Amino acid sequence: MSLHPGVFVNRTLNMKRINYIGLDMDHTLIRYKTSNFEKLAHNVMLKKLVEQQGYPESVLKLKFDYSRAIRGLVIDKNKGNVIKLSRHAAIRASYHGLNRIDYKKQKTLYKSTYIDLGDSNYDPVDTSFSISFATLFAQLVDLKDHSENHTLPDYATMATDLAVVLDQAHRDGSIKDVIRNNIEDYIIKDQEIVDGLERFKKHDKKVFIATNSDYAYTKLLLDYAITPLLKEHDHWSDVFEFTITLAQKPKFFTDNTPFLKVNPDDGSMTNVTGKVEKGGIYQGGCANRLTSDLNLDADEILYIGDHIYGDILRLKKDCAWRTALVVEELREEVDQFQKAQTTTEKINHLMAEKVPIERKLDDLISDQIENDHQNHKDKIKKLTEDIQEIDKSLSPLIKEHDQFFNPYWGEVFRAGIEESYFAYQVERFACIYMASLGDLFKQNPRTYFRSHRKSMAHEV
Ligand code: IMP
Ligand code: MG
Repeated sequence: MSLHPGVFVNRTLNMKRINYIGLDMDHTLIRYKTSNFEKLAHNVMLKKLVEQQGYPESVLKLKFDYSRAIRGLVIDKNKGNVIKLSRHAAIRASYHGLNRIDYKKQKTLYKSTYIDLGDSNYDPVDTSFSISFATLFAQLVDLKDHSENHTLPDYATMATDLAVVLDQAHRDGSIKDVIRNNIEDYIIKDQEIVDGLERFKKHDKKVFIATNSDYAYTKLLLDYAITPLLKEHDHWSDVFEFTITLAQKPKFFTDNTPFLKVNPDDGSMTNVTGKVEKGGIYQGGCANRLTSDLNLDADEILYIGDHIYGDILRLKKDCAWRTALVVEELREEVDQFQKAQTTTEKINHLMAEKVPIERKLDDLISDQIENDHQNHKDKIKKLTEDIQEIDKSLSPLIKEHDQFFNPYWGEVFRAGIEESYFAYQVERFACIYMASLGDLFKQNPRTYFRSHRKSMAHEV
């Protein structure tokens, strides 16, 4: 049993040392009904493609399928592929549009199986907000390949068009107005998180928000999902030390953008000449200025977010705050991992039978080569048949195992027996990680999170 159920530790973190906790809002402090949100985004993108980018009306028939993409995938814009990478950025699965690319074809398409992620042809699917993007890209590629209608542009242009319409959809109200009018369909009210905020405050942890959302949307979500659930305070502004909107993360962690003060009554803004103040609502700003205004050491601040790049990676590279990552897929992945245990054990059992046979086979073949004879012919035939027999039993078990996870992509954290590229980034950049902020808030605010000693290949 883990010492801190639900919280996973990559680097030791002493919560007694943490005085300020910064929270990302969307998908961290505020939980979404993600599949509903992404369906809406998919829908809005389709309409914009037709109305603004001249796409044929037939694209409107494309139905959203939430299971088509997972976080951690990478889009190859030029080739119209979506790929899953191992921790070493080696391709472990790929689809062209909606069709799986077999291993042989994959090898001819990608001479080197390793991907250079610095190449701008590759687009990461790294936020929950990009699931709809990846799904729609795959669908459009498929439509282009299979339709008589030749009005769709090339794959890379479709990816650019999609990025443009998704960006607009987030900014121009076409998504957020729908949320405002049907908020219970899109936003989760989580009592555990709100109780945790009040509990951590009692321990004198100063909690603040740093979100990329604008003030109006921030207010909408906090008024709905925080204020009504408070037991010891009247309003969300009583629990947060200050609130930073339109923070432009990751620039927030790297640049020196000045803070603007927001007047909560009318949303108007003024320049900030003095220091950041308790209770204030701000726009923009930067981590450097915040750390010095508060007179803190950088490692007294823990920032918790859900976006590996925007919230965590740049922060870890350019600013010394501690980091925590919320990975909402983790709960299901851990549950399914448990459910798949019986199948996993059967696979391990068969592998334990197969490996010594393979070794024996290699020895016999080597002996024949080195001593120039054919004396083991029958034994070799028998061992080869034994291996084929085991493989026959293994293959349905591997399929059965994969069915516990995403039907197209398998696990978020694994790529075969290796870790996925996503898992590698989580391990490298997040000091701790968990499925929900509530999992952290359930722990004692004085917890000393200790990491396990990790074994290297030569140590096991
Ligand atoms: P955060 O997670 O609280 O920092 O806020 C994320 C904000 O970024 C939300 O308001 C999203 O609607 C917005 N967002 C997500 N993807 C995009 C995009 O592609 N363009 C513009 N805004 C985006
Ligand atoms: Mg977020």
